[in-house]
This record gives sequence, structure tokens and C-alpha cells, in this order.
Amino acid sequence: MVDYSEVYIYSDQPTTCPKCSARSKVVLNLSHTNDKTEVHLCPDNDCNYEFVMQYDEDFDNASLL
Ligand SMILES: [Zn+2]
Repeated sequence: MVDYSEVYIYSDQPTTCPKCSARSKVVLNLSHTNDKTEVHLCPDNDCNYEFVMQYDEDFDNASLL
């Protein structure tokens, strides 16, 4: 099950697992939809944490200033 109670915002860094910091992989890419989200899965067998990344345009714009 994906825990949608916690949503993480994209940064310019490679996406990593919030629990163990392993480089996560995209299992569901919805970045082209209105939701602008990606579901990521931690590849670590001991962790296997699934989490949601969300693209925040306001955050992105602010970082360009
Ligand atoms: Zn992990």
C-alpha cells in the first residue's frame, strides 16, 4: 500500500528514500497529469518503502529567483 498521508516535494537532487536514503525508482509516473505526482519505491529489500513525490510549481519558480 502507498502511504498517501505523506507527500514529498521534488527537488533538484535525485529522489531518495526518506527512510533509508537509497536511490528510489519510479513505479508510477503521473507527472504528466494534473496530479503531477510520481509514486516511488525504495529498492532496498529491507525497506521497500513506497512514497509519493509531488511536483510543486511554486517551489520550482521560487528556486529560479
Ligand atoms: Zn528505503
